Amino acid sequence: MASTRRVMVVGAHVADFVWRAAGAVALATGRGGEACVIALSYGERGESGDLWAQDGQTVENVKAIRHQEAERAAERLGAGFVGLDLGDYPLIVDASALVQIAEQIRQFRPDVLITHTDTDPYNPDHGLAHAAVVRARSLAAGVGVPSAFPTVTPPSLLLFEPHQPETCNFCPNLFLDITSVFDRKRAAMGEMRAQAYLPEHYVQRAEQRAHQARLASGRGGDLRYAEAFQRVTPQVVTLP
Ligand SMILES: [Zn+2]
Repeated sequence: MASTRRVMVVGAHVADFVWRAAGAVALATGRGGEACVIALSYGERGESGDLWAQDGQTVENVKAIRHQEAERAAERLGAGFVGLDLGDYPLIVDASALVQIAEQIRQFRPDVLITHTDTDPYNPDHGLAHAAVVRARSLAAGVGVPSAFPTVTPPSLLLFEPHQPETCNFCPNLFLDITSVFDRKRAAMGEMRAQAYLPEHYVQRAEQRAHQARLASGRGGDLRYAEAFQRVTPQVVTLP
């Protein structure tokens, strides 16, 4: 991750990237890299709770508000934002949507691609997004040999941390020190006003993961905030 130049995060809903991978995005862009955030839906029905407390609320209005929030959050992180507006609860990824996701990967050519784990008993869309992204990655990259279609260098595939990791097949094997960019993550989380109940939860999560990262690495108290990821594709290294 330290030398990552291009990061793409794909979430089922508009704010997933903020809670789970904003630090990774901010680190990449802060080092001169580029980042692209894709939301398969706006989370307009299932993850926009505070907005639905307002009388007379409509789906179209919620989507417009959430689009603005996501753009501002991505801007705080130096990333571009793309909303595919596929609908949520249920998210439906049909063949043309799959091609759209693959095309986004092909165009952006990420070094690292980050998305959901394969299951989430509390959310019907997250596992579906995982399956779609894994499939789209393969469609964009082929199998590492010349193919009948344009291909990109296979990006590393990482999974970001679910809300309740124990129930979602999440086993963290990569801790990313996001201390230097945590102010930016905090600012991005603050833009998601429709989910104002979540930022403090994810500040605490980052502190807990940092504690575990310190134990795992022997690092000192300067490592104050961390994000956890699960690496799917093998790390390829060259020893000096
Ligand atoms: Zn979500």
